Amino acid sequence: MRRLIVTEKNNTAKRIANILSCGKEKGRRVVGSNVYTFSEDDADRDTTVMGLRGHIIDVDFPADKKNWNAVGPEELVWTDIVKKPTEKKYANALKKLGGDAEEVTIATDYDREGELIGVEALEIISSVNKEAKFDRARYSAITNDEIEKSFSNLVDIDFNLAQSADARRVIDLVWGASLTRFLSLSSMRLGNNFLSVGRVQTPTLALITEKEEEIDNFVPEPYWELYLKCVRIKDSHTRKSEISECLKDDFTFIAKHKKGRFHAKKEVDRVKSSLGDKGEVKTFKKRIKNDMPPNPFNTTAFLKAATSIGFTASNAMRTAENLYSQGLLSYPRTDNAVYSKIDLKKILGLLSKMKEFSTYSKKLLGKELKPTRGKEAKDHPPIHPVGYTKREKLNDEEWKIYELVVRRFLATLSDAAKIEGTKAEIDVNGELFNATGSKIIEKGWREIYPYSSVEEVFIPELSVGEILKVESFVEEKETKPPRRYGQGRLIEKMDELGLGTKSTRHEMISKLYGRGYVHGNPLKPTLVARAVIKTLDEYAEKITDVKMTKELEEEMDTIAEGRLSDEEVIKRSREMLGDTFEILKKNEEKISKDLRERLREEKVVGKCEKCGGDLIIRRTRRGTRFIGCSSYPDCDFSLPLPKSGRLVITDQECKEHGLKLIKILYKKKTWDLGCPYCNYIEWMAKKKEEEH
Ligand SMILES: [Zn+2]
Ligand SMILES: [Zn+2]
Repeated sequence: MRRLIVTEKNNTAKRIANILSCGKEKGRRVVGSNVYTFSEDDADRDTTVMGLRGHIIDVDFPADKKNWNAVGPEELVWTDIVKKPTEKKYANALKKLGGDAEEVTIATDYDREGELIGVEALEIISSVNKEAKFDRARYSAITNDEIEKSFSNLVDIDFNLAQSADARRVIDLVWGASLTRFLSLSSMRLGNNFLSVGRVQTPTLALITEKEEEIDNFVPEPYWELYLKCVRIKDSHTRKSEISECLKDDFTFIAKHKKGRFHAKKEVDRVKSSLGDKGEVKTFKKRIKNDMPPNPFNTTAFLKAATSIGFTASNAMRTAENLYSQGLLSYPRTDNAVYSKIDLKKILGLLSKMKEFSTYSKKLLGKELKPTRGKEAKDHPPIHPVGYTKREKLNDEEWKIYELVVRRFLATLSDAAKIEGTKAEIDVNGELFNATGSKIIEKGWREIYPYSSVEEVFIPELSVGEILKVESFVEEKETKPPRRYGQGRLIEKMDELGLGTKSTRHEMISKLYGRGYVHGNPLKPTLVARAVIKTLDEYAEKITDVKMTKELEEEMDTIAEGRLSDEEVIKRSREMLGDTFEILKKNEEKISKDLRERLREEKVVGKCEKCGGDLIIRRTRRGTRFIGCSSYPDCDFSLPLPKSGRLVITDQECKEHGLKLIKILYKKKTWDLGCPYCNYIEWMAKKKEEEH
């Protein structure tokens, strides 16, 4: 009997073949694809395992709808979608291997996308082999136990789950393509310069531009804080031996006026002048607080932690996926933060084989384990280690992510840290000041998880009634604008609002960078992004609002649950889009005018040093772009620009020339060109040098 096993990627195919054959698999090539074969004599079965490359079929509009000039964007709303193979090589290998297989086991990753990839393979095989029997292997980690268990408990393919992923793909295509075409045409931004709009992308971008708006509109307000430097009078309460042991600083600590912020300088000055140089300790209290260990990692929490140690969200995800296919981490896409059915002691046993974690793991092994719990979801287990390795076997990034997940796992099984909080009230001529101290007295989980820390503040043991020498001082401060989103915080916010899924959020963020809508980290919107969102907000706020996206997201869940068909949901989404287009069409002229005005502003790089006109991005008749003066032909000042790449004008300025700094985005990298004038001067100097 012949059996075919289909996995999502080549490296998982190889690992799974290796596990199932106990290392007896043989690699060969079939129509250009790597496959792994082995035979099971007792079952009289020849098995071939092949890996795909993610999706092998994609959805698209029919060719005759692709011409932007001939087909209006609103026509796309009700156009039927076609499916086309994107990886012909894999399709051919599937036909060849599946053609004479009696049993086909789909062993792609277990989630919506994986199920859909499996169904794509099934459809291709069924087209040449009607007899094949299909089943599904589901696993959360690529380890011996997990793979053997899943292959001895094969289940049916979940067509509902696959359909919900397919519906998402169709809906996103229709929304993205029609709205992008509409906006690009009405702003005359065509070719590489098109303005991208998307069902999840646009509300996400709106979050970022709204934050920027808040920052712009923020008016800082001054306030004052009144502090007290308290010095203990040594003889009265401290024994001699203590004095010699304590550092001098131990006797000095800072207290803050109970009012906190004073909003008028006069008031703070009045209070300050009423103070003397002696204070009395009114109360002194101590309390021990439990500082609970963190919850297990779901994807959002994992990405938040990984971005806080310097990873981008997409790089963190890619690295975690690599570690998953190496059998070191469990599947990194999950909304679940509760360990159930996981043999925690067994994992501790694995980790105790590594010198970095051995002592700590053994310590936990000797105890009763009470793991923390986060939000529960019917999904894969939280991201946790499933295998051990040697540090040298991983590259730097892989090690950092592996270590983060291991430390988090160990932390979730650890005791709470204990923090002693001290609070003293000090009375100075009737004005009350607070001094608060905190000290870690038991490290608990913090011993193994150094990624977050507590600030320890010292205040001495005081006694009520004790008199202190005090000296007051005032600090002038300003209220601060809200913070921009970092990648981790943005993913958390998207999760909270129901924008995108655990598998798509990090990709969405990369897309925003790639489209020239944001730059830097934390994310700063470009002027184009602000122009687009502002215009859409004014005329079609539905597109920028999270509500509709969230609604559709929920409907896709109902497809997965089998309560709605994908056709129904797609139809409803087309209706929603149709309504949106009605509004857009009604305001088309205004949208076009607004957008073009706003985008013109965006093209202004600064003032011309020759005539004071606006320097703007222009194109020669042959399409080469450059910076030219708005007073042309009266003024011929110009600066060159690189030929290719997407231009992003940032809002930072060159100190010398007052021109806005420029970035050029290429497919894989970003070039910080900086001030175009400085860049030009540098380039000329270099050219001269080369000539000599
Ligand atoms: Zn000029
Ligand atoms: Zn400059």
